[in-house]
Amino acid sequence: MAKVTLRNLRHSYMPNPKSPEDYALKEIDIDWADGGAYALLGPSGCGKSTLLNIISGLLIPSEGQVLFDEQDVTQLVPDKRNIAQVFQFPVIYDTMTVRENLSFPLKNRGVDPATIAKRVGEIAEMLEVTDQLDRRASGLAPDSKQKISMGRGLVRDDVNVVMFDEPLTVIDPHLKWKLRSKLKELHQRIRRTMIYVTHDQTEALTFADQVVVMQDGEVVQMGTPVELFERPAHTFVGHFIGSPGMNVLPCDMRDGGAFVAGQNIQLEGPVTGNGQGLRQIGVRPEYVTLGDGGLPATVRKVSDLGRHAVVEAVLGDTRVNAIIEGATPQQGETVGLHFKPQQTRLYTDGWISTEAGS
Ligand code: ADP
Ligand code: MG
Repeated sequence: MAKVTLRNLRHSYMPNPKSPEDYALKEIDIDWADGGAYALLGPSGCGKSTLLNIISGLLIPSEGQVLFDEQDVTQLVPDKRNIAQVFQFPVIYDTMTVRENLSFPLKNRGVDPATIAKRVGEIAEMLEVTDQLDRRASGLAPDSKQKISMGRGLVRDDVNVVMFDEPLTVIDPHLKWKLRSKLKELHQRIRRTMIYVTHDQTEALTFADQVVVMQDGEVVQMGTPVELFERPAHTFVGHFIGSPGMNVLPCDMRDGGAFVAGQNIQLEGPVTGNGQGLRQIGVRPEYVTLGDGGLPATVRKVSDLGRHAVVEAVLGDTRVNAIIEGATPQQGETVGLHFKPQQTRLYTDGWISTEAGS
């Protein structure tokens, strides 16, 4: 196991990168503690695989360093890094049996047969493939193959880091849920550093203790699932996490206060920054209530989701969602929107610019 440090990392796939847009990764600094469960979350193309491949050594970064327990491994080939990587699509040997596939990473390192048998047995049990151990891998369905592929990544207990790059893409939805909780369980048992890459917020939030949210080759926030939900550092995090995502409303700044539709909006704390840039108010639907007074908005749609309803209203040109329990308004009705001040913040050019409340 190891602590993973990424220091001033930048990467471009171009021979002569000039502007920031030429970089798939822009200035990444991360410290991942030994034994933690981490997720790397972001939309397709934001640089997740690039980052993972730099950690595993499949790619050498244009700039910066990768450290395992303070030791610089930036130039080391993958074989010398002692890591396991599970890819989006199964990487297994079709001509071998499931057992041989699972044994291979251990056999390769000269582990004794008794230990191999024990480890393979445990992993097979966990993945529920014990009854398939003697089957040839070529005959397996794609999701079974991917399970074996994951097993190959998990079978060694001497690795520094286990990395998963969107491993559940080819897995059936109901099995997805199961494998996700298995992985979490496994992490809690073996406490090995794991990095899980996904574009799916549910996968990231259920697996990881700490989630790194990426956008356009940059880390926009790293935090626990609760931190990302309760205090998004960037409107992108607010949008990307939560369902529906955070409401973002244009606002005017006057006399040190934020105004929407002529009304002063109470914020979590004092406004920070020099006042330059695009100003917006961010508040999650969970913290919007309907009542007398407030910001007048017209109800456009009400979706009853059982335990609660999502009320979609429009305020001028801006759509605002509210998650409501109990009585819901009618479509076309005018309602007053109220924002919970402790959960309402000003964002400047996307970034949070409100001091934390006490
Ligand atoms: P993600 O895994 O988050 O979908 P990637 O790391 O694969 O993102 O890609 C990040 C950016 O780098 C994208 O713009 C992608 O087109 C580009 N990219 C990825 N791999 C290569 C490559 N081998 N050559 C050139 N550009 C690449
Ligand atoms: Mg990828």
